[in-house]
Amino acid sequence: MSENVGDWSPEELEKNGHLLLSQLREHFTTLRTQPVTTTRSAQEIRAVIDEPLPTAPQPFPEILQQTWDDVRPNLTLWNHPRFHAYFSNSSSGPAILAEMFTAAMNVNVMLWDAAPAAAAVELTVLDWLAQMVGYPVAQDSVLVDGASLGTLYALAAAREQLSDLDIRQQGLAGRDLPRLRIYTSDQTHSSVDKAAITLGVGLDNVVRLPAGPTGRLDPEALRAALERDVRSGHRPLAVVANVGTTSIGAIDPVEEIAEVCAAYDTWLHVDAAYGGFWRLAPEVRPLLPDLSRADSVVANPHKVLLSPMEAGALFCRHRDALTNTFRVVPEYLRTRHEDGSVDFMNYSLQLGRQFRALKLWWLIKSFGVAGLTSRLSAAAALADGLRARARAHPDWTVENDSPFPLVCLRHRPHDRDLDDAETDELNRRVHRAVNDGRTSFVSHTVLPTGYALRISIGNIHTTEADIDALWSELTAAAERCAAPRLTERSTL
Ligand SMILES: *Cc1c(COP(=O)(O)O)cnc(C)c1O
Repeated sequence: MSENVGDWSPEELEKNGHLLLSQLREHFTTLRTQPVTTTRSAQEIRAVIDEPLPTAPQPFPEILQQTWDDVRPNLTLWNHPRFHAYFSNSSSGPAILAEMFTAAMNVNVMLWDAAPAAAAVELTVLDWLAQMVGYPVAQDSVLVDGASLGTLYALAAAREQLSDLDIRQQGLAGRDLPRLRIYTSDQTHSSVDKAAITLGVGLDNVVRLPAGPTGRLDPEALRAALERDVRSGHRPLAVVANVGTTSIGAIDPVEEIAEVCAAYDTWLHVDAAYGGFWRLAPEVRPLLPDLSRADSVVANPHKVLLSPMEAGALFCRHRDALTNTFRVVPEYLRTRHEDGSVDFMNYSLQLGRQFRALKLWWLIKSFGVAGLTSRLSAAAALADGLRARARAHPDWTVENDSPFPLVCLRHRPHDRDLDDAETDELNRRVHRAVNDGRTSFVSHTVLPTGYALRISIGNIHTTEADIDALWSELTAAAERCAAPRLTERSTL
C-alpha cells in the first residue's frame, strides 16, 4: 500500500475482514435495540456523508468506523426484526458471506467460458427455485436484479411471440401496426407500466381492470375487455396476473385467467414477486393457484427467500423464448458451443452479470428446504397472531384477506362516532405516531374502506416478542391519537 500499487496483501484482507466481521457481530447482537429509521433530514445526512474527493489513501479501520458512525445509523434498517414496511425482507448469514466470495472471484456470468461453474450453479439454483414456486415446467430461466426487470423481459418475450409483426427487426415506429395491449388489474405493480413505457406499448395500452374490494382480477371482465379490443382491431400482447398484490397480498384466479388467455391466444405472465416463495409454507400452499399454464413467472428471492438485494428470478415455459428475444452475438463474444453450456448474456439485456446465484446456492443449502419452510411458516404464524389480536379488539379491524403475512389494519374506536374521513385522518396519525417511535416501522395503503396501516412480517429475525411490541405500540399510539380529540372532534 505504501507505494500505492497493487491490492491489499492477503494478510491485510484477512485482518480487515476480521474487523468487518466483528463489527457485523456487534450489529446483529444489538440489532433489536437499534432504531429502525433515522431522525435526520436529507440535508443533514448529506452533510454528514459528503466530503471532498479523497486524494491520499485512508486507513480501512477509519473508513469502517465512519461507516459505522455515520452511514449505519442513517439507514432505514430493512434487515431489522421490526421492519414491517413495504415488504419485510431478510438478508441471512450464508448469503451475506456469499456476497464477499462472489466479489472475490469477480466472475462475469455472460458466456459459459467466462464463468463455467457459476453458470452451472445458476442453472441448478434456477431449477430449485422453479420447484419452490411450483413452476417446474420452466424451460428458459434467468436470475435478474428484481421482478421489475423480470417482467420487462417477460413482456419483451411476449412481444417477440407476435412474430408476424416482426418488431424485433423492424421496430414499432413509422409502421402500420395494431395497438398492442396489456391486460391486468388496477392493483398490479407499477413495473408493468414501466415495461409498457420501455417496450413502446405506451401507458394508454395498459388496460387496468378494476379489481374491486377483493383486489382480484375478474376473469369475465378480462374476457370482455379482450373481446372488445380484438373486435376493435387491437392486438393483445399479454395478460399480467398477480400472486400477491403489493397493496394487500391478493391472489388473482390464475387458472381461470389462463383459460381466457388460451381462448385469445395471449401470453400469460404471472407476477409472483412477493407471493411465489410463500408456497414453501404448508399453510399457504393450498391457497395458491397452479402456475403451470403461465407462459412466464417472476418471483423474488430478495423479497421472501432470505436473500439480500438483488435477486429476482424469471421463468419462462417456452424453450428459447428469452434467447430468441435477446440474442445478439457480436464477433468478439463468439465462443465455441459445448453441449450443456449456457450463455446467460442471451437471456436478458445484461451482458456483464454478477455471480448472483452463489448467495442463493449457499442459503438454500445452508437452511435446506426444511429450514426455509419452517422460517416462512413462522412468519405466517406471527401474522395470524397479529390478525387474531386485531379481530379480538373492538377498535381494530383486519382489512385484507390474504394468506400471506401481510396484514392491513384499520383503527376505528367503537365508542366514537367518526365518519370515514375522520377515521382516515386518525389512522394517518396512528401511522405517523408508530413510525415516529422508530422502534417499529410500518407502511400504509389506501383501500376502498380507507386508509389502513400495512404490516408486512417476514424478516428472519422477527419473533413473537417483536409482534407483541408492535401491537403495544399500535394500541398505545391509537389511544394517544384519539384521546385529546374526544372533545374537539371537528378538528380531527
Ligand atoms: C416488489 C414487487 C415488484 C417489484 O420488484 P423489484 O424486485 O423491486 O423490481 C413487482 N411486483 C410485485 C407484486 C411486487 O410486490
